[in-house]
Amino acid sequence: MSALLNIDSLDAFYGDFQALFGIDFQMAEAETVALVGANGAGKSTFLKCLTGLLPVPGQRILYKGRNIAKARAFEIARQGIAMSPEGRRLFPSLSVRENLMLGANVGRKGQWNLDAVQALFPILEEKRDIPATLLSGGQQQMVAIGRALMSNPALLLLDEVSLGLAPVIVRDIYAALPRIRSGGTAVLLVEQDIGMAMQVSDRMYCLQEGHVSLSGTSADMTREMISAAYFGREKEVS
Ligand code: ATP
Repeated sequence: MSALLNIDSLDAFYGDFQALFGIDFQMAEAETVALVGANGAGKSTFLKCLTGLLPVPGQRILYKGRNIAKARAFEIARQGIAMSPEGRRLFPSLSVRENLMLGANVGRKGQWNLDAVQALFPILEEKRDIPATLLSGGQQQMVAIGRALMSNPALLLLDEVSLGLAPVIVRDIYAALPRIRSGGTAVLLVEQDIGMAMQVSDRMYCLQEGHVSLSGTSADMTREMISAAYFGREKEVS
């Protein structure tokens, strides 16, 4: 598989505050990678760097071989990186369908359209004319993922899908992942639910205080290793 993302020693700052320190990170095309770590470890910051929401001038974030570190958020979306953000960020005044259609504005062609997203999450067809924020938390999460898919991304970023949702709902949402992967979309998921992250990913990275504290193949990881990596640094599993 060829490299989709290649990041070498990424630093990120909020003003004078350094949130990420020398992050080395690689992803292959169509791979599923989980990013885990305690609150404040830097997971959302890393996703913001990938999507152009946090400027990282002078750094190198190679996506399909091109440096996107200086690109603006809309250009990055056009190149095929889409995010389902933490907290979902749906538009309350818009219906489910209208929220989904916003993703299509990016203008990328591919297998994902309204019919395909509604087939993936059938409840969204039933609720299509309802204001999106009147849906349950799980259904709103489906809208956020569906909106990202509508842009036909090569790389889908999922930030905290399971946040605030019952385990049975989380399982329902993750049940869509094989279908998303089968179309060739790579998935980078930030997840607090370690068990789910281990189960659905090919590889994992753990962040601790802005550093990579563990990385490797998910099948080789144990909960003990991951727990230790929440507090320790610099371990690698082949
Ligand atoms: P969480 O699970 O709580 O979302 P996280 O791993 O995503 O945590 P980040 O949100 O990336 O962590 O935060 C990393 C560090 O950067 C934290 O110390 C946080 O306080 C800080 N930080 C995040 N956003 C900002 C901001 N806009 N301005 C200043 N500091 C910030």
